[in-house]
Amino acid sequence: MSETKRCSRCKEEKSRTEFHLSRSKPDGLHHRCRPCSRAVNRKWNDENPFRRLAFNAIKRMRRRGIPFNADSKELAATLEFLWDCNGGECALCGTEIVLSSSEGPNAADAAHLDALDPSRPYQLGNATFLCAPCNVSKGDLTIETAQRLYRFLREEVNVDH
Ligand SMILES: [Zn+2]
Ligand SMILES: [Zn+2]
Repeated sequence: MSETKRCSRCKEEKSRTEFHLSRSKPDGLHHRCRPCSRAVNRKWNDENPFRRLAFNAIKRMRRRGIPFNADSKELAATLEFLWDCNGGECALCGTEIVLSSSEGPNAADAAHLDALDPSRPYQLGNATFLCAPCNVSKGDLTIETAQRLYRFLREEVNVDH
């Protein structure tokens, strides 16, 4: 077997270690080199923010063993609808949030998908978007408790985040 492989995207001849393994390919390697795979992934993520959110949400539900019977496409449509309803604002503090922050998922204005009742699937009535600081401080509180807490903090103690 040859020691190098030509990437289908950048057309460069690269060492076999520059490719991800792929069991479905005859030579056992992915057709794009690692940097190209990363670039394509990033582009896909930026262009399909709701599909990316839906994929991650389904992964989380699987991990938690929550029964869920929609595919990522359906969930993405639900999330897009929800996003339009929320008007791109954090459900707790009203901060403007963005789907893909240029500073990455931990940026303060990066939108986080949150399940109001974490034991139930992400779906209309049980999902909302939060900014990163609210997502962190909310922890496992229900959104109602968190909302009360947030109002209390803002009105009584007068702190922001
Ligand atoms: Zn390449
Ligand atoms: Zn917030």
